[in-house]
Amino acid sequence: MKPKHNNIPIFIPELACPHRCVFCNQSKISASLSIPEPEGIGEIIEKYIQSTTEPREREIAFFGGNFTGIPIELQKRYLQAAQTYILSGHVSGIRLSTRPDYINPTILKMLKKYHVLAIELGAQSTDDTVLRKSGRGHTARDIQEASKMILDTGFELGLQMMIGLPGDTSEKSMQTARDIVAFGAQTTRIYPTLVIQETQLSNLYHNQKYFPLSLDEAVLLSKNLYSYFEASQVRVIRVGLHPSEELSPEKSLIAGPFHKSFKELVMTDLWKDILSKKLNGIFYKKIDVIVNNTQLNFAVGYESKNKQYFENNGYQLKFKTDPFLSKYDVQIILK
Ligand code: SF4
Repeated sequence: MKPKHNNIPIFIPELACPHRCVFCNQSKISASLSIPEPEGIGEIIEKYIQSTTEPREREIAFFGGNFTGIPIELQKRYLQAAQTYILSGHVSGIRLSTRPDYINPTILKMLKKYHVLAIELGAQSTDDTVLRKSGRGHTARDIQEASKMILDTGFELGLQMMIGLPGDTSEKSMQTARDIVAFGAQTTRIYPTLVIQETQLSNLYHNQKYFPLSLDEAVLLSKNLYSYFEASQVRVIRVGLHPSEELSPEKSLIAGPFHKSFKELVMTDLWKDILSKKLNGIFYKKIDVIVNNTQLNFAVGYESKNKQYFENNGYQLKFKTDPFLSKYDVQIILK
């Protein structure tokens, strides 16, 4: 069996980011975060390695900012600090996130030398109007060119996208997804736009010039994007933001489709569709529904939403698992 994969996350915020993305409260982030010193990351890595006994394929993940936007000498110090663990075989390589306009052949050559395997770009949208209204400071063409350079140099490419940005629509988001596939991404992440305190977006929101997606809209759109990416063999690494103390109405969150179990809501909706199709035209009341173990919670639904939904429609479903079924296969036994 393939060993489990996990990332050892090391958060490197880019404190002096010259950009002004409307949704980002970097001044607040910068004030509240300390960057780990390159010499200190060994301790973080070792803690992770020691915390797992079963065989795992691990990557050191430099996330949280625009890695290739920090001074080159500092980049090298971080990358150098990770080499001991790569050369000893404790980790297989490095992945990092950055902006499309912070990629060039010289940077890529340097990253290759330090065993970087995967580069994720914050693409956010491939619609130039959306990018401009969001203050991203790069164009769709920058995303396309950076993607090509990354793939041509032999890295795994990830393209992250956001939904509900200023000027965005569901159709524009679907087009972004089609472009992400066309640009050759192997992985993606889907993040709903939230209105956070001390951002330009919060001013637009208070002046009724920006209206965030509702939770239902965000879940529906994310489900459609997720299904499309899966059908296109693009691995969806994440859907929704990590819940954190900061992301709460008592703290920084003003408005927007935040839910602590956003991915579960998306998968619940996806499974509602699968089961509706499967049960269409079946008039038995009592039915055993058998799914792969990894999908059981999603099939039953967040807080048993799907089970409840089908019960309200006259079915009594009993959910069971079979590890040999593939991810979205369903077997039903009529009782
Ligand atoms: S989201 Fe935009 S403003 Fe914030 S750190 Fe990234 S590039 Fe800079």
